[in-house]
Amino acid sequence: MNTAMKLNTDCKSCRSHLADLLLDDACLASHPELEQHLASCSGCRTELHELRSTFALLDEYAAPEPSPFFDTRLHARLREAVAAEPESLWERMRSFLLFSTGRSFQPAVACALALVLLVGGSGTFLQLHNLQHGGANTASSATINDLKVLDNNAQEEQQMNQLLDTSGSADEDTPPAS
Ligand SMILES: [Zn+2]
Repeated sequence: MNTAMKLNTDCKSCRSHLADLLLDDACLASHPELEQHLASCSGCRTELHELRSTFALLDEYAAPEPSPFFDTRLHARLREAVAAEPESLWERMRSFLLFSTGRSFQPAVACALALVLLVGGSGTFLQLHNLQHGGANTASSATINDLKVLDNNAQEEQQMNQLLDTSGSADEDTPPAS
């Protein structure tokens, strides 16, 4: 707010007491200088009035009640999930790529491309490795290695997304200078 620069010390003290004025009815009685200031300063009066309206609105707001069947359904789904077979790596990868949303989507695409390159690269490397050592039984272990690489990549991708999310939200949560 640009007007913050123009606030005099009375206004500053008044604004710092706004919460008390709002929540404590006895505050005005114990701070007659605030009452005096509010009578003469329209800026602070408006500020207090707007805060009061906001709080009145919040008082009116009633949080919606969850459906009576919510708990039953949730518990049924939890039991199903516990009883179900653990998801395979591919299932987890698929749901991660499918359901990662919004901000995390772009890095996800970038990571998916990097992943393709990595898998292609490591596949070639493993093929060369196999050729050099001439192992017949290494074909299955090569697949397992690829899966491990994929798993590690998915974990790193998630960590990266978390980092991006926290740094992004930190910027948004910065309160505007008042
Ligand atoms: Zn004022």
